[in-house]
Amino acid sequence: MWPMFRARPARSGAALRVAAVLSGVVGLVLGAVPADAAPDPGNAVRGPEVAVGRPGRDRPVVQWDRGGGPRQMARGLPSPPGWYVAAFGTRTPSKVLYLTFDDGPVPGRTDGLLRLLDRYDATATFFLVGYRAAANSGLVRQIARRGHAIGNHTYTHPRLTDLSSGKVANELRRTTRALGSAQGGCMRPPFGLINSTVARKALDQGLQPIMWTNHIEDWRTHSVAWHTARLGAATKPGAVILAHDTNPRSIKAVARMLPEWKRAGYQLKAIPACRTT
Ligand SMILES: [Zn+2]
Repeated sequence: MWPMFRARPARSGAALRVAAVLSGVVGLVLGAVPADAAPDPGNAVRGPEVAVGRPGRDRPVVQWDRGGGPRQMARGLPSPPGWYVAAFGTRTPSKVLYLTFDDGPVPGRTDGLLRLLDRYDATATFFLVGYRAAANSGLVRQIARRGHAIGNHTYTHPRLTDLSSGKVANELRRTTRALGSAQGGCMRPPFGLINSTVARKALDQGLQPIMWTNHIEDWRTHSVAWHTARLGAATKPGAVILAHDTNPRSIKAVARMLPEWKRAGYQLKAIPACRTT
């Protein structure tokens, strides 16, 4: 379902410093990372490579055509340069994490995750698939009522970059209709596949594209310990972590990390651009 990522290790000094600070969390779980898997996918936001803006222009420049293709994803670079600054502004130095869960809602899984997040006073962002949301409207309302943010993940989960711009617009519009007032002003393209046409259609509908800085590779079969290790390695201020609430192992991994994050002083928050209030 997902193209393979080849994870690349983070080598920046900042990343290493943060890793040192977090050794309490990371040290607990890094032991479970297989030798061939790097702890950082290499798509974390990097300072100088991110185009923040051009002189005389207000809007940040996002290079939507420079990321999100299968070839880029295979190199571990799914996120177009500039997307983070466009969505969040400057990356926070505070201990804040943005957990994101794609492809739900799924009865029996999403609701269990909601109870778990409640126990730790944690909020997250759910990128819902329209057809699943339409079939589980009670679950959609529950996500919103518990203070989480909801984003548009299209209606049928297609590869948007393969569709005409009219069909892209329709996928987003149908989902907005299914989610109603629960939906915030954001979307995530399935498979991370985005280009400037898709981005324009999303922004035209008031939906800010949200990619990720780290993923836990849970579209592939790994152990709970493996996913937990990925979460530990992703723990850095302002990280946007991609997971799937369709995968019970991901939920178990989050359950293991929640007390660790609490101990390390991390707050789990919903993405501001996706919030309705
Ligand atoms: Zn998806």
